[in-house]
Amino acid sequence: MKTPDLRPETLCIQAGYTPGNGEPRQIPIIQSTTFRYETSEAMGKLFDLEADGYFYSRLQNPTCDHVAAKIAALEGGTAAMLTGSGQAANFMAMFNIAGCGDHIVSSASIYGGSYNLFAVTMKRMGLSCTFVDPDCSAEELNAAFRPNTKAVFGETIANPALTVLDIEKFAAAAHAHGVPLIVDNTFATPVNCRPLSWGADIVTHSTTKYMDGHAAALGGCIVDGGKFDWTKYPEKFPGLCTPDESYHGVTYTERFGLGGAFITKATAQLMRDLGAVQSPHNAFLTNLGLESLPVRVRQHCANAQRIAEHLQGHEKIAWVKYCGLPGDRYYELAQKYLPNGSCGVISFGVKGGRTAAERFMSHLKLASIETHVADARTCCLHPASTTHRQMNDSELAAAGVSPDLVRLSCGLENADDLIADLDQALAAE
Ligand SMILES: *Cc1c(COP(=O)(O)O)cnc(C)c1O
Repeated sequence: MKTPDLRPETLCIQAGYTPGNGEPRQIPIIQSTTFRYETSEAMGKLFDLEADGYFYSRLQNPTCDHVAAKIAALEGGTAAMLTGSGQAANFMAMFNIAGCGDHIVSSASIYGGSYNLFAVTMKRMGLSCTFVDPDCSAEELNAAFRPNTKAVFGETIANPALTVLDIEKFAAAAHAHGVPLIVDNTFATPVNCRPLSWGADIVTHSTTKYMDGHAAALGGCIVDGGKFDWTKYPEKFPGLCTPDESYHGVTYTERFGLGGAFITKATAQLMRDLGAVQSPHNAFLTNLGLESLPVRVRQHCANAQRIAEHLQGHEKIAWVKYCGLPGDRYYELAQKYLPNGSCGVISFGVKGGRTAAERFMSHLKLASIETHVADARTCCLHPASTTHRQMNDSELAAAGVSPDLVRLSCGLENADDLIADLDQALAAE
């Protein structure tokens, strides 16, 4: 389906799957591990990547492929694959081009799971990472590169710091050093920002968040923009530019072109060997979420904006962080990259510090205490007493998490009801 000119509302409904005459209107759940062939020769062609088709759902499954194609269309990419989680998406996007002995550059303001993946787990695999302040100068950013640097990573809107990435600045530095920029677009979603259109090369998602949107299905996705020319740097990216002996000597860039090489390699090698697939049933649930994504994202953002404005003027609130608020440190960047809205997550400090924040949260009736974000139900988290509880106040400060910080993921409830809930909890002694 050629869909470059259609808008997100239309793509969320129509892209990725077009039934033929008499076929199911909704994407069918192909809950089958394997697929039948009449001759070994026909199947052999699939193994040689000479023919398109399915043989085993660890590599590819039609339900997952339809949903991946929808997300590719939404991001304006050329190819995409689903993964079992956002963690798997970020790991595979990176490991597809960077391995033992290599180096990557990442914004320091990223999801805790991704930070740990790069700082600890991938380090154990022999891959080092330099973390940079996302607000650093172009000079500081350029200084982070080494001859063995293979990729740059950042999040459009960082979870939980709510930093907005200057995508053009990061893309320029990456391209000046002959490497791609990978952007995790989980919080913004392609409804509010399409990083590929600002110079990013690969986009990743935790579809677990707004794309599913109902706290029902864990999942991830990798989208390739198809523009990064790996063949200009064959010594940097031998996995894409030289024959893959583990796959019948195929050279991915030659056989699949710039538009298909990255995702085909990730599927044929990494999914084959690591197996972090999304189940067809989860892909089906993710697709139900995608169908209403633009409507929901608008409502999440409207609620967050109302609540952020309300809390900003509240006598019991010390500070509010939300890039939709004029005066916020990221307001200008958000106006550029996220002109129609950012996300439904805000953070704020309760006057009285750690104990006041804990007391406030214990009195909430609608907003529930969860580590999750970005689903239909409003939820909140006090990092100092949960995810970051092993840190003392000075360690918290170094991590950018103050003891009074509350992260609130604004759901789809009525904003007046949510504000009333917050007000009664702030008033409670
Ligand atoms: C949640 C999240 C992830 C990890 O995704 P999972 O689906 O939980 O594995 C990665 N990046 C961001 C920005 C996230 O919010």
